[in-house]
Amino acid sequence: MPPSVVDLHIHSTASDGLLTPSEVVRVALDRGLTTIALADHDTLGGVPEALAAASGTRLEVIPGVEINSEGSWGDLHFLGYGVDPDHPFLKQRLEAMREARLGRARQMVERLGELGLHLDWQEVEALAGGESVGRPHVARALYNRGYVGSIQEAFDRYIANDGPAYVPRLRLTPAEVLEAIRRAGGVAVLAHPAHSGATHMIPELVPLGLQGLEVYYPHHSPRQVQMLRAMCRRYGLLATGGSDFHAPGHEEGAPIGTVFVPLDCVAQLKQAAAGPLTTGR
Ligand code: AMP
Ligand code: ZN
Ligand code: FE
Ligand code: FE
Repeated sequence: MPPSVVDLHIHSTASDGLLTPSEVVRVALDRGLTTIALADHDTLGGVPEALAAASGTRLEVIPGVEINSEGSWGDLHFLGYGVDPDHPFLKQRLEAMREARLGRARQMVERLGELGLHLDWQEVEALAGGESVGRPHVARALYNRGYVGSIQEAFDRYIANDGPAYVPRLRLTPAEVLEAIRRAGGVAVLAHPAHSGATHMIPELVPLGLQGLEVYYPHHSPRQVQMLRAMCRRYGLLATGGSDFHAPGHEEGAPIGTVFVPLDCVAQLKQAAAGPLTTGR
């Protein structure tokens, strides 16, 4: 019995997850979940497949996206739930970010080549498969070629933020991300605030359009969960939560459905949404 029937933070092959959207739906159904949200990096490309796979079942799929931002305080991640994937402003922003991801991944492959680790760009592209290419795909290519013994070693030796082949990617400011999510009709939630060390930013983000906090998260301690719940009450924010599942053994995520998320998070999310959350409008 999983600790929860709700999981509002799942990655798929549309970005850097290992399971296709249909496989994610299958796992969620097998584990008895009732509501999931796909939250791929910079793309809603996996949502139609997930909705189709869940159609006619008891599983509800909420369309979501995870967008990173950057500023002097570091790397903040935002979740946008129920956004209109065709909203021109959001669409243009996401396309620009995916485009920048491609150029940046190519640069990392070049740098690795200079270090004597020769990867075939086509192979990285094929591993990315979906819409949004990221470092985990480069790490997998390094592993497949036998240059490293594990995905983690690829990060630790080469492509972690301070690694010799790391190239930063285009990031919007928090204000730009919040604007894009809100204009597209989405509910804007700060992802894993305690894990990101971003709790002190919350008061500044609320006037920019922040509506919720991802309280329930694999790397949030019970104390942090309590503190974040208190912040939700204080600032009138809703609470969400999820596993951040990418793949077995991934450094950040946990298996689908293994993080406790109260059922009323879904009701709160629906209440905050400008329109229906589950139709993939
Ligand atoms: P990207 O969005 O392409 O910069 O890649 C970010 C992804 O790489 C996230 O899923 C992270 O979990 C993963 N990642 C980033 N840094 C590390 C690290 N030091 N070790 C393992 N995975 C990492
Ligand atoms: Zn990821
Ligand atoms: Fe994140
Ligand atoms: Fe994530």
